[in-house]
Amino acid sequence: MAATAEYACQRCKCPFIARVADRKRGWARFCSKSCKASRQEQRTGQHAAYQARKAHRSDGHEGGEFSNAHLFSNEDHDCSKTDD
Ligand SMILES: [Zn+2]
Repeated sequence: MAATAEYACQRCKCPFIARVADRKRGWARFCSKSCKASRQEQRTGQHAAYQARKAHRSDGHEGGEFSNAHLFSNEDHDCSKTDD
């Protein structure tokens, strides 16, 4: 028999019984699967928004401008080389 204890759900604060071993592994944070799912969605949504903002910022600054300028100078260089 595994040892169990009562914990409060991290989403709805409802008390529920979970195995102590699971809790030590970082599991058993929620009373039900629906509580776990909605909590994870909230977290990943915030994370995705943060990543999108970060990606957008670095993309507009480095990615777009740099690759464009590189392509341009490369074409220019090739042209004058074949002309000579
Ligand atoms: Zn819950």
